Amino acid sequence: EGVSSYGDTGMMTAAIRRVPVGIRRKRLRIVVTGGAGFVGSHLVDKLIGRGDEVIVIDNFFTGRKENVMHHFGDSRFELIRHDVVEPILLEVDQIYHLACPASPVHYKYNPVKTIKTNVMGTLNMLGLAKRIGARFLLTSTSEVYGDPLEHPQKETYWGNVNPIGVRSCYDEGKRTAETLTMDYHRGADVEVRIARIFNTYGPRMCLDDGRVVSNFVAQAIRKQPLTVYGDGKQTRSFQYVADLVNGLMALMEGEHIGPFNLGNPGEFTMLELAQVVKETIDPSAVIEFRENTADDPHKRKPDISKAKDLLNWEPKVPLWEGLPLMVSDFQNRILNEEEGKGQ
Ligand code: NAD
Ligand code: UDP
Ligand code: UDP
Repeated sequence: EGVSSYGDTGMMTAAIRRVPVGIRRKRLRIVVTGGAGFVGSHLVDKLIGRGDEVIVIDNFFTGRKENVMHHFGDSRFELIRHDVVEPILLEVDQIYHLACPASPVHYKYNPVKTIKTNVMGTLNMLGLAKRIGARFLLTSTSEVYGDPLEHPQKETYWGNVNPIGVRSCYDEGKRTAETLTMDYHRGADVEVRIARIFNTYGPRMCLDDGRVVSNFVAQAIRKQPLTVYGDGKQTRSFQYVADLVNGLMALMEGEHIGPFNLGNPGEFTMLELAQVVKETIDPSAVIEFRENTADDPHKRKPDISKAKDLLNWEPKVPLWEGLPLMVSDFQNRILNEEEGKGQ
């Protein structure tokens, strides 16, 4: 991939487009914090594939070296074990800031650490962006809408969030991260971008992160019952990871700050999702109901008109196409795990 695919994202100026074919645009140096995680590692693949240099910063809390190992030995790739809560000095053109545990099980494990990561981690990356004049992209979340009173959610909705609940370290943390991002933009002229990501799935999700898609897929493969929390009538909208990566890159290269909802508007109840997983992996799988967790949002569905209009982006992969794409990855990893136990 070279000049043409980069041009598609709309960043190149008319002047650069006149450069004869064969001469490449300047190679960018890009930091991806959380780049050894699920979303980050797919983003890194695409940036390296495009021809850029990538520095991954990760403390391996939920990320794994296995997710980026295929780039070891490539001179354009660098992996730094570092916690974003601590300052760091680097020289780069762009910062994709993803570092933060994303699944409820992981972010509730050490809530104080989660909020430190969101606040101090984001502050450090914004301080870095300010010092070197880099463009900064924050991966915020649909959780900033809380248990929404508006449906579907538009970016103009301010949200319905419990400030003292068990999810607050994450959703209030991300809200503060958005605030910091806008204050660095207004106060220090940092070029910023904000994405509000809705539930995303795909290969390399942690097997036991407790998120609903990874749970159902792993349970169906292990021949265990699919655990539906509550009555299973709550809804989510599930986006395939490749669609998200395209959206993040379109946002970074575009002219608009955001925030932008990045998600797939296809809305499913958890019972419907269980049905799709059954049909994809094992029609004989059984469903088991469990008590729901506290503060669970009842419904969630993005309004993505803003991203469609201004970023020319929309998701392409429906659930029934995306789910099979993560099944073989999960099957391999579960098999390895079982073989490991047998030794
Ligand atoms: P993930 O847990 O797979 O990845 C997060 C990565 O950040 C991991 O590699 C982890 O080790 C690293 N990390 C965590 N704390 C860190 C710290 N203090 N210093 C350095 N590294 C740290 O999660 P993901 O699904 O890939 O999510 C990536 C980003 O996207 C997160 O910011 C998350 O909030 C956001 N997001 C994801 C979803 C989704 O459905 N996957 C939805 C909304 C928002
Ligand atoms: N920071 C960093 N790398 C840099 C520049 C700043 O990690 O290259 C950190 C810095 O240590 C500080 C934060 O980013 O904790 C905010 O920096 P800023 O310069 O905005 O604020 P100040 O240092 O004046 O508090
Ligand atoms: N959920 C479920 N079974 C599971 C895990 C989760 O029914 O094994 C439900 C959960 O109660 C929530 C929805 O699935 O209503 C999405 O949960 P997840 O943790 O994946 O993401 P989030 O709540 O952050 O959207």
